[in-house]
Amino acid sequence: MSRGADASGIVIVGAGMAGLSAARRLSDLGLRATVVDPSPWFEWLPNIHELLSGRKTPASLRLDRQALLAAMGHRLLAQRVTGIDLSAQRLHLGEQEELPYDRLLLACGGVDHDRGVEGVAGHALPFKSVDDCYAIGSRLARLMASGRPVSVVIVGGGVEGIEALGEILRCYRQHAGLHVTLLEGGPRLMGQAPAVLDEMLRERLAGQPVTIRCATRVAAVTATGVRLAAEAPAQAESVAGAQLAADMVIWTGGVRAPDWVARSPLAGADGWATVTPTLQSPASARVWVCGDVGNLPGVRGKQASDALAAGVLAASNLAASFQGQKQGRGRRRRQQSFRASPTPQLLTLGDLDDWLVTPDQVIAGPALGELKEAIYQFYMARLDRSRRWRALPGVAARLGGYGWLQWQALLTAPGGLLQPGRWMLRRRRAEGGASLHKNRYEQGHKEKT
Ligand SMILES: Cc1cc2nc3c(=O)[nH]c(=O)nc-3n(C[C@H](O)[C@H](O)[C@H](O)COP(=O)(O)OP(=O)(O)OC[C@H]3O[C@@H](n4cnc5c(N)ncnc54)[C@H](O)[C@@H]3O)c2cc1C
Repeated sequence: MSRGADASGIVIVGAGMAGLSAARRLSDLGLRATVVDPSPWFEWLPNIHELLSGRKTPASLRLDRQALLAAMGHRLLAQRVTGIDLSAQRLHLGEQEELPYDRLLLACGGVDHDRGVEGVAGHALPFKSVDDCYAIGSRLARLMASGRPVSVVIVGGGVEGIEALGEILRCYRQHAGLHVTLLEGGPRLMGQAPAVLDEMLRERLAGQPVTIRCATRVAAVTATGVRLAAEAPAQAESVAGAQLAADMVIWTGGVRAPDWVARSPLAGADGWATVTPTLQSPASARVWVCGDVGNLPGVRGKQASDALAAGVLAASNLAASFQGQKQGRGRRRRQQSFRASPTPQLLTLGDLDDWLVTPDQVIAGPALGELKEAIYQFYMARLDRSRRWRALPGVAARLGGYGWLQWQALLTAPGGLLQPGRWMLRRRRAEGGASLHKNRYEQGHKEKT
């Protein structure tokens, strides 16, 4: 059975950060599209770790995808794409249905990467969506309420693993009996960041109920914990042979390309879609690629800022490709090349510390967490643009969702916004590791911890 696309023939696959920003750009250019995405919610992923401590609620991190797209003039098809026929210009939707396109914008992101480790699907808790993180938060709360010792294993020492650890410590570090083990296969935490960040994280985690084990690969996840790969050196006392017992295993193993993309002619050797500088697929000039699913030129890692920027550019280029589309005085619009902007990464460790990470230096200070919060608030309100005024009660609810006690803590508790030294920052260069700014905050913080 063939589904009808919008009259424009434009189809967007995936309405996450890249797909939604592309949809908005098309709408601004007066173009309508059919958007395919199986999930009813747009979710702001960079803050979902805060569900573990209850700092955010599911509702505060979600927007109704259908309403967002309808306000932009697009149609949502709540289905999952399972394949593509480039020569026939058709998408497969499950076994039976097809969706023709004239121009396609691919923005379906990545999927959880189990790294080929046995038992991940059956026993580990994924960390990729609001539902995933809410489930982790609820299970953690039940375990902590039981009053018995609780052992948590987090697999992955990247941004997701570190931020999960921070939220668990924010909420439960005072509970006797909690122990968290963070396992990382690479030689250090946050492997793509300057090495000083690993040092700074370890300093902050000293004295906490945490064991960090780098260069440690997991061979299997079981109902009772994890089995470590044979070459892992036995470093911690809690390791009995190659087994590590855990009440809960959180899996933050990164992302890989969706199978249907990896199988298609769009994919390069690593499974991700390849792109030209104008974000077109080398396999078809009628396909543009943006966000995590593409190997975007000049981009290191997969970040929200690149997904948002690439979505806008891919949509502009798609619009410019229409024959007869003119700009200014009769000049045809040219497709533009994508330029990755080196946006720093913001990393939070619960209420212990926050970091702004660039390729050659790391700036620390808990006030940076408020920057991450402000970016989240800004984008959620911006995405809600068409309903901004009607959304105000929702934004107020999001802000109010902190509750009075949390606001009070945010302002006045140790490390709170109004505490002396809160806004002081510390900076370290990638090489040398010398602390350039030791200040009152640093001293106060050490006393606190
Ligand atoms: C837990 C977590 C924390 C993160 N933290 C940060 C951070 O702090 N800073 C930062 O910069 N980045 C962070 N990221 C990365 C950032 O969220 C991604 O780079 C960004 O979401 C990529 O946007 P995207 O639109 O390409 O993909 P996504 O946001 O993943 O959206 C993909 C969309 O495609 C849909 N889709 C998937 N498959 C199909 C299909 N077959 N058919 C139709 N639709 C489909 C999905 O339902 C989804 O809506 C984080 C990611 C995660 C998971």
